[in-house]
Amino acid sequence: MPRPILATIHPDALRHNLTVIRQKVSNSKIWSVVKANAYGHGLDRIWQSLKQTDGFALLDMKEAIYLREQGWQGPILLLEGFFKAEDLLVVNQYALTVAVHSHWQLEAIKAARLDKPIDIYLKLNSGMNRLGFSPAEYPQVMTVANGIQNINSVTLMTHFANSDNEIGVDGQFAVIEKIIAQLGMDSLPHCLANSGAVLWYPKTHGDWVRPGIVLYGASPSGKWRDIAEIGLRPAMSLQSEIIAVHELSEGEKIGYGSRYTTQQHVTRVGTVACGYADGYPRHAPTGTPVIVDGIRTRLLGAISMDMMTVDLTPCPQATIGSPVELWGTKLPVDEVAEAAGTVGYELLCALAKRVPVIIG
Ligand SMILES: *Cc1c(COP(=O)(O)O)cnc(C)c1O
Repeated sequence: MPRPILATIHPDALRHNLTVIRQKVSNSKIWSVVKANAYGHGLDRIWQSLKQTDGFALLDMKEAIYLREQGWQGPILLLEGFFKAEDLLVVNQYALTVAVHSHWQLEAIKAARLDKPIDIYLKLNSGMNRLGFSPAEYPQVMTVANGIQNINSVTLMTHFANSDNEIGVDGQFAVIEKIIAQLGMDSLPHCLANSGAVLWYPKTHGDWVRPGIVLYGASPSGKWRDIAEIGLRPAMSLQSEIIAVHELSEGEKIGYGSRYTTQQHVTRVGTVACGYADGYPRHAPTGTPVIVDGIRTRLLGAISMDMMTVDLTPCPQATIGSPVELWGTKLPVDEVAEAAGTVGYELLCALAKRVPVIIG
């Protein structure tokens, strides 16, 4: 028998989440963001469940080529654009839409030999200071882009730094509105919204939206309570089993660093076959929720490479072989992430290669 750890991908949840997003943005087209191997879910496993999308957005040319080879004929957007001028061969051959954020990329497009002019997403740096042209130079760059014969269409693209927190998008949105006014083009196509803006700022929806994390049923804010009312379903469950049980008396220590000391007369402790080498966050502290035999309980002590220990007090019937859900349909990944001081994105993306994955 294999080690009992297992991840399950839920195609129904992906389809459902896409439908929920579709209802929120009824006038916009949807780029389903499937970068980072579909946020750890496996692009090969999930893309067909998202076939009702209008396009796929990702970073890696290999993943773009994979989708084309699998028969996806709709749009594909390279969110970071192309990295070397020769990448335009791939862009040309596979009819990819590219983000353009630097002058050299415009020069390269101008100089390239293409069968057909390409669609570009001209990136505005509206305040995140990561990629894109400054608001001061943007109108001029737009004019240049519109004059390049190898360019078919130009869409304004920018990215929000705070659509998922109390700062919000208004500051960046004002920059964008000002640019659009300066360009004097009422109908300049634009694509602004990530998951947070899709959920919470309808004014940003524009022509296309770019949701990622919500497709997978987790929260852009990293807090499950923020999306609890929206009806998204987790697209991944991580399960394992109890492989050992110990009854400890008061004052005994558990795990590396002896970080937990039992406080009851008797504490039943279960050992679970899941550790940080499976992608579980090593920083998850005592108290992080975990589901054993369908009942919510908590971690005790440090996470090891291959194992963790859990409190069986709330589930006295649990024994060797009892099922454990680390995150998934009963326990949102966001809750685990929050306890560990990170976000669901990181946990999903970090699912380790050694964990077997099934579809179900
Ligand atoms: C990752 C990414 C997204 C999706 O972000 P979520 O927060 O997962 O919705 C959208 N746009 C760009 C440019 C990105 O890099």
